Amino acid sequence: MNLATKVIIALILGVGIGLTINLYGGEPSSWINTYLVDGVFHAGGKLFVNALKMLVVPLVLFSLIPGIVGIGDIRLLGKIGTKSFILYIATTAIAITTAIAFAVAFGIGQEMTIPFEPSFTGKEAASSFTEILIGIIPANIIDAMAQDRMLSIIFFSIFFGVALLSIVKDAPDLVGIIEQINKVIMRMVDIVMWFAPYAVFCLIAKAISQLGIELLVQLAGYFMVVIAALLFHAFVNQMLILKALTGLDIGIFLRKIRNAQLFAFSTSSSGATIPVTLRTVQQRLGVDRAVSSFSVPFGANINMDGTSMMQGVATVFVANLYGVELGLTGYVTVVVTAVLASIGTAAVPAVGLVMLTLVFNQVGLPVEAIGIIIGVDRLLDMTRTAVNVTGDAMVTVVVAKSEGFINLDTYNDPHAGEATDLPMIPEHNNVK
Ligand code: ASP
Repeated sequence: MNLATKVIIALILGVGIGLTINLYGGEPSSWINTYLVDGVFHAGGKLFVNALKMLVVPLVLFSLIPGIVGIGDIRLLGKIGTKSFILYIATTAIAITTAIAFAVAFGIGQEMTIPFEPSFTGKEAASSFTEILIGIIPANIIDAMAQDRMLSIIFFSIFFGVALLSIVKDAPDLVGIIEQINKVIMRMVDIVMWFAPYAVFCLIAKAISQLGIELLVQLAGYFMVVIAALLFHAFVNQMLILKALTGLDIGIFLRKIRNAQLFAFSTSSSGATIPVTLRTVQQRLGVDRAVSSFSVPFGANINMDGTSMMQGVATVFVANLYGVELGLTGYVTVVVTAVLASIGTAAVPAVGLVMLTLVFNQVGLPVEAIGIIIGVDRLLDMTRTAVNVTGDAMVTVVVAKSEGFINLDTYNDPHAGEATDLPMIPEHNNVK
């Protein structure tokens, strides 16, 4: 059985057990919740997410540097960077416009008033745009790594790579060593992924068992519209863009991207999914490291199609609840703010909700209204993260194809780079 099948089975089992616990597990203090949900499931999921996160910084660093050296031409690097940036921004704008269209078409929130206790005060205010820009150049690279500030790490790696490129004749060994470290880290990713089915089971069972099913029923309209818009974007918009810009087979892309989507879904973090996305686009879809080592971590951080969609639907929903007319100017403001906010949204769980404060502020909606939707955000976060990651991979393939950095044989081979089992650890060679 291959990894994707095992992960899907784990996911289904997790949903089943999670639902059972949610319905029959008793009080939050019951032994099932204390020992199983907050104990075993929590630890099982957390260990796995930690292991993935542990690999993100070294992976970005050691794959981006030889990637840059591999491009060999700084102008080409600029071209790849510009193309990915434009595509990331454009796809996010398309995403949120679609979401607003869905929300308006379904008129959600118009016939509803939900009594709520403000549980969200907006104190977790998002950092300003200027701060994000300034932060790209870190004052202290160790500090940036310690805090997972991906844009800063990308900047440092590119800078290092470009400098290395300019003196590559003086440092031929260094390039080789960095390559080898990169291989080791990739191997570590494979090994961590072997544990994925167990971890996915724990993550999903925990999330579902803690989900307020009653709240879900109450907010069903909002919930369903976000999900419908997300699915539409992932399966229609993104695939049309992929087909139109590359002519590649969409079915193959969808089949191969499934693992990364499942990881994103279970971890709710495009940042933690970077190792899996990177592995998928390089080994399964045949994208050269020259493009993917930059484009994937970059996308994980600035490309948030799914997140902006939730924000679009939430804004229309809350505006309707409060009887606020947004009008065309309002909608345009929402699109622009959400697209800009997506650049500053950290690729970790639930940040999209914090960034929603920016959007609400821009169009004059009360920030505490976020308290209405916070209860059902967990499941939406999982789904939108999967859409975010799909967008990262899609744009990466488009850019790679346009610059000739994709191996079409690998792309078209259904079994290329398939992870099946724990990679064999060779017998220890007794070298005396
Ligand atoms: N969890 C999302 C991500 O990591 C961000 C968000 O929407 O909260 O991509």
